[in-house]
Amino acid sequence: SKVPTITLNNGVAMPQLGFGVWQVPDAEAAAAVGTALEAGYRSIDTAAVYENETGTGKAIADSGIAREELFVTTKLWNSAKETWTRESVLREFDASLARLGLDYVDLYLIHWPRAMRDDYLTIYRTFEEIARSGRAKAVGVSNFHQHHLERLLAETSVVPAVNQIELHPHLAQSGLRAFHARHGIATEAWSPLGQGKAVLEDATVARLAGKHGRTPAQIVLRWHIQLGNVVIPKSVTPSRIRENIDVFGFELDADDMTALAALDNGTRLGPDPEDFD
Ligand code: NAD
Repeated sequence: SKVPTITLNNGVAMPQLGFGVWQVPDAEAAAAVGTALEAGYRSIDTAAVYENETGTGKAIADSGIAREELFVTTKLWNSAKETWTRESVLREFDASLARLGLDYVDLYLIHWPRAMRDDYLTIYRTFEEIARSGRAKAVGVSNFHQHHLERLLAETSVVPAVNQIELHPHLAQSGLRAFHARHGIATEAWSPLGQGKAVLEDATVARLAGKHGRTPAQIVLRWHIQLGNVVIPKSVTPSRIRENIDVFGFELDADDMTALAALDNGTRLGPDPEDFD
């Protein structure tokens, strides 16, 4: 069944489920993204630092799917320079577009706040300019804590469309999700499957998989969908790529959602954005 969209705060529609390509080598990205597009994915999440924008763009070009049916996200890797300036951000954005072979992206994100460098306001103001030019249909951030968002909201004019954060049943991010909801920021979950480790081996997830006749990955993705999160699960295995998008034909009930909420133990798989540079 078809992937629903959520409407971002600027009216742009974003598929609620997309395909993430972190750690997919560029030479394999075209095949993996091609499989995902065949399976019905229309949203792809890449980043300059993943070094697979070229392979991703090749799969998009080869797919024959109309550009307006696709939703392509990439991210500025804001560590490659000491301090970013308007000019270096514009150059880096152009370089991403060129690697992707596209004349616009649907979403452009600041990859990490890196507040110690004190340049995310400069970067974001340049993103606003990129959005005004139409070369990004929406702009947003990733890995921002509430206090980073509060500073952004106070000092810039475009409310970020999205904050893409680590989020899975072991790190449910309820505080940040509530803040996003109050401010019209969509919550996008990275490592939505907990990178395929402890989250998918959890006994509660296994019990619900048995109850619904679904796989653990499908239970976890369905939990995200019912919370209203955007999800971007990654796999290079064709059967799993298809399995991960097949989550719109069943529903978790209130007891299931409560049982999954109880798994939140604050475990981060990635770095804390507070001190990640
Ligand atoms: P994920 O939670 O999507 O887990 C992916 C792993 O889970 C796979 O490598 C595989 O081992 C396993 N898996 C996938 N499908 C499965 C299935 N059906 N059954 C069993 N195991 C399965 O982890 P991720 O790749 O870290 O996150 C997804 C995407 O989020 C990334 O590809 C990337 O696009 C994005 N991301 C963004 C940031 C950021 O800083 N903004 C950080 C990490 C990831």
